[in-house]
Amino acid sequence: MTLAAAYEANNIFAKIIRGEIPSVKVYDDADVLAFMDIYPQTDGHVLVIPKKARAVNLLDTPGEDLKALILAVQKVARAVEKALRPDGVRIMQFNGAQAGQSVFHVHFHIVPVYAEQPVRAHATGAPADGERLKEFAKRISAAL
Ligand code: AMP
Repeated sequence: MTLAAAYEANNIFAKIIRGEIPSVKVYDDADVLAFMDIYPQTDGHVLVIPKKARAVNLLDTPGEDLKALILAVQKVARAVEKALRPDGVRIMQFNGAQAGQSVFHVHFHIVPVYAEQPVRAHATGAPADGERLKEFAKRISAAL
């Protein structure tokens, strides 16, 4: 029962915020962090998380944290569109393990969709090559 679970301070995204484990950053400010998904569903898959909210999912995120979060999602999605020219962009957000959530710190997925590239399965397979992720992050950051 993860939908109403208590926030766990040692989840992997909390560790990324604290700098305890590395991430390939796309955008970082006082309120939000955007970084490359390590198991990208397509080229350019980015995650956006709030830095202050100790929230498991959207349902327990304080309203005061939502404005900066969704504005950052829009900002990064626009940069993804500008940098990578996908044919579409999926914005996804899962609440509870049964709904597909695997990391219990609220986050949005930005998944560019390309006509010629299948969308891979969620959070599985081999992790992406770090240098390749850095190259996408650089291109997206430059378009912010
Ligand atoms: P969700 O399943 O919606 O909770 O999404 C969690 C996402 O985090 C998945 O798409 C994973 O591929 C991704 N992920 C897991 N560990 C890491 C990590 N260390 N760095 C970047 N992305 C990660």
